[in-house]
Amino acid sequence: MVNLRTATLSAGLCLLAACKPQASNEAKAPPGTQSQEVRAQEVPTSYVSEHAFEKGSSFYNSLRALEIDSATILKIVESAKKVFPLQEIGAGTRYSISWSNEAKTDPISIELRIAADSSLLIERNNDSDLEWTATKNVLPVSIQRKTFIGVVDSSLWESADLVGMDPNLITSLTEVFAWQVDFTRQVRRGDRWRLTVEQKIVNDQVIGWGNILAAEYDNGSQSFTGVRFPQIGPNASYYASNGNSLKQLFIKSPLKFGRVTSGFSKGRFHPVLKIMRPHNGVDYGAPVGTPIMTIGAGTIVEVGPHGGSGNMIKIQHNGTYATAYLHMSRFAPGLRKGSKVEQGQVIGYVGTTGLSTGPHLHFAFYENGVYVDPLGRKFPSADPIAKNALPGFLKEASNVLRTLPDWNVAQHVESNGERTN
Ligand SMILES: [Zn+2]
Repeated sequence: MVNLRTATLSAGLCLLAACKPQASNEAKAPPGTQSQEVRAQEVPTSYVSEHAFEKGSSFYNSLRALEIDSATILKIVESAKKVFPLQEIGAGTRYSISWSNEAKTDPISIELRIAADSSLLIERNNDSDLEWTATKNVLPVSIQRKTFIGVVDSSLWESADLVGMDPNLITSLTEVFAWQVDFTRQVRRGDRWRLTVEQKIVNDQVIGWGNILAAEYDNGSQSFTGVRFPQIGPNASYYASNGNSLKQLFIKSPLKFGRVTSGFSKGRFHPVLKIMRPHNGVDYGAPVGTPIMTIGAGTIVEVGPHGGSGNMIKIQHNGTYATAYLHMSRFAPGLRKGSKVEQGQVIGYVGTTGLSTGPHLHFAFYENGVYVDPLGRKFPSADPIAKNALPGFLKEASNVLRTLPDWNVAQHVESNGERTN
């Protein structure tokens, strides 16, 4: 099979011995605590031991197992209290202990990797009281750009897997183009995609992903481009290369992944009622529990069991449009009649309540109170980039679009099934 551009990711955390020099150099005593000159001296690496908390074992028990005396452990716990509650340490959390002697009987500092980008350093003060001081260090995160390119053979997920890409990034890609492509029914063999994404690095170790900066999805007949650009406020959005927003009144599908099992029809043989009757909506087959999103912002006008419709939510989007979501197994918590919902918000989960032959979502779309077929309809776009920001956007867009990998790489894979250098 194809093994194109396999990412060399070792997503693990850095070993604490490797983190240690940076963390201690960065350590600054907060005001009012012991200053640096009374901190523990650098210790030879042979006096450092590496550990990880085991499932079901407390901080206290773990340190007792290393024969550290109770009084010392309690002092350590006490000193950490104000900075980080040690009872929140999860199984697998790595920590290193520096000892004053090779026999490892006298601990002088302990450093815990409490998050991918932060550590907790607890050091014994060099004073006669043998008190301890805890400091939280935020490790500097650097960003590098990483690119991926893929061609769909059987599914989007598989196309990501083939190129060694984190499947979560495929979900992010579907979010960028949620208004342009219905990923539940429009993904075809031969569709291709490419993207440039931020990768977060701490101490030369990959700790996760940042934002997709630019992406393209090409289904043979149409190609969609998205460029991330910050507008007013903290939220960035994705725009086409000309500055038009990718956002529209409605996203293309209420499910991220699933498939259309029955379309809108004026007359169809009803599988449960065994009679011909119109199918006033679109059925999406998906496992029980699959999250259902509202395709647009609006107000809930109905929520609850509704006869043959089972558990149903109906949302009024504006004076013209409304949507309904039927047969849910359960609703998202806190929703009631009159609740406001945001576009893409999860409102419930796929089920098979009411008149239903199996787990699916029946999705109904109303225009002026009348059922219409939502598939293939065009809806208005959100605001484009503001005029005064457009020159800046166009410049940035052309820069970031240039970072996308060349399509030819993917085409080569498509035609030959393997890559030659
Ligand atoms: Zn249906």
